[in-house]
Amino acid sequence: MSRSAHPAGPRHGDVLPEGHYSAPPADLNVLDPKVWARTVTRNEDGAVTAGGLDVARLAEEFGTPAYVLDETDFRARCRAWADAFGKDADVFYAGKAFLSRAVVRWLKEEGLNLDVCSGGELTTALEAGMPAERIAFHGNNKSAEEIHRAVEAGVGRIVLDSFQEIVRVAHIAQSLGRRQRVQIRVTVGVEAHTHEFIATAHEDQKFGLALAGGQAAEAVRRALQLDGLELIGIHSHIGSQIFDTSGFEVAAHRVVGLLKAIRDEHGVELPEIGLGGGLGIAYTSDDDPREPHEIAKALSEIVTRECEAAGLRTPRISVEPGRAIAGPTAFTLYEVGTIKPLEGLRTYVSVDGGMSDNIRTALYDAEYSVALVSRTSEAEPMLVRVVGKHCESGDIVVRDAFLPADLAPGDLIAVPATGAYCRSMASNYNHALRPPVVAVRDGEARVIVRRETEEDLLRLDVG
Ligand SMILES: *Cc1c(COP(=O)(O)O)cnc(C)c1O
Repeated sequence: MSRSAHPAGPRHGDVLPEGHYSAPPADLNVLDPKVWARTVTRNEDGAVTAGGLDVARLAEEFGTPAYVLDETDFRARCRAWADAFGKDADVFYAGKAFLSRAVVRWLKEEGLNLDVCSGGELTTALEAGMPAERIAFHGNNKSAEEIHRAVEAGVGRIVLDSFQEIVRVAHIAQSLGRRQRVQIRVTVGVEAHTHEFIATAHEDQKFGLALAGGQAAEAVRRALQLDGLELIGIHSHIGSQIFDTSGFEVAAHRVVGLLKAIRDEHGVELPEIGLGGGLGIAYTSDDDPREPHEIAKALSEIVTRECEAAGLRTPRISVEPGRAIAGPTAFTLYEVGTIKPLEGLRTYVSVDGGMSDNIRTALYDAEYSVALVSRTSEAEPMLVRVVGKHCESGDIVVRDAFLPADLAPGDLIAVPATGAYCRSMASNYNHALRPPVVAVRDGEARVIVRRETEEDLLRLDVG
């Protein structure tokens, strides 16, 4: 299913067809471990804890809305990905999912590499002590200044995305007396979303250089000629929230085809292949993501098989999970403000945040679940739509979910799986103050990104 936004904006005032949402769960008090961070549990007394801390206490101490991030889970996911791919592959965490200095330190300690795609992400990474050689720099329009900083810092690789950039990076590297390791990002004509992918002969998008029509081959030709560049491989990234490896299979087949053409034309076998990120997570109980070790096995089998068929040595694989690491590790804690039952439709539950802290529902029609976390309830389930406090009818956090019918203003509800692309895409719309990220671990809570204040807003407004 295509996830492109409708030009008229998010759906407005529609009544969803019957069966869009699943039936209510048997017990609304049960937290499905699939969608909640590892240490989140409901105790026997009904209290929900994360990292051993009562979430109602967290709300008291840090306010709402707040992102609560399970550091134990984050670190465990880093290790699971690193272990799954082992010594013959490189795992780069995609920093755009969520990046802060604490996160960089966790990545560094757990043995992961890091993808950045802007000067700001690069600064955060270097500032927090990520060794430059473990950083990859992505993006379709890196500025000359960003490239200069990246090369000067000694980043492990720059992923080239256009003909102009090939020349720019080569020139800057030479001016600094460097030879920059680079990959070329190619578009392979595969677009993957969840369980389906579309394979086409051409690409209509801003990223990369197309395999079809020979752009990618021409980029390789140019990169191999420039002294400032050391071409180490080909990179492809096919989509997001992917559950099935069949899209990667088509992509790998096409990329290996290019590697073979490069060998035949230039006599070089490039040592690396980048397969990008996009591995799916469970946003709701209906999603069934695969474990890192299954994905690692499938991807390495695909690449090995394709290379054997092409008579090539198997290159070193790199992957770039972003949401698959950060996504499941956090939930957003909100306080219920107003409740409006609409006869025969659903009940609108307004919370103290909204599209400023989670734009994904409005932007991608993303699905989320929600739970009452400040108490238990034996009331009947009611169909709700959780909405924010912004001046948009498309300001929806959770489109369809069930909460107990005795829900009341002042209750705390939490939306799980908001660790990726929520804080990192948060905005100041309506002059909202972006929520803090509170990391919990072994009974301790630590603010790793503080809540914005009105002074922060006014500081940028120079009058
Ligand atoms: C966004 C992105 C990723 C990470 O995607 P996830 O869905 O978070 O895994 C990896 N690589 C590239 C090039 C990307 O643009």
